[in-house]
Parts: sequence; structure tokens; C-alpha cells
Amino acid sequence: MTVSSRSSTNDPKQTCPTCGRKFRMDETEAPPFCRQRCRLIDLGRWLDEEISLPHESEESPKTIDPDSVRD
Ligand SMILES: [Zn+2]
Repeated sequence: MTVSSRSSTNDPKQTCPTCGRKFRMDETEAPPFCRQRCRLIDLGRWLDEEISLPHESEESPKTIDPDSVRD
């Protein structure tokens, strides 16, 4: 009785969090994404969220009184 040791159940495939595509971990150039592009897209999302967040910026109030400028 010979038992063939097949490791077919060990699937090295990963799912890209950006595009949902399945890829092999040893084939990607930008893990855990399938491509560098997907990595950049994900990074872009992060940056976009950060920018759109209400951020307290110290803005110097413009005190331009139109009455003081008139001649
Ligand atoms: Zn992808």
C-alpha cells in the first residue's frame, strides 16, 4: 500500500485586497497585493481618506475690511 504524498490542499494563493484577484505569493512584486498598481491604489485610498478627514489647520483669519480700503 503506497500513499502518495500530494500536497494539493496547500494552496499558496492569496486574494488581493484591492482587486480581489487571486494570485500566488511568490509571483507578486508587492505583497500582500497582486501588483504594484494595486498597492498604490490601496495607498491612494488611505491618503485620500486622510485628506478628506476634518483636519484642524491653523489658518490665519483674513481681516480685510472693505470699508478700510475705500478712498
Ligand atoms: Zn490586485
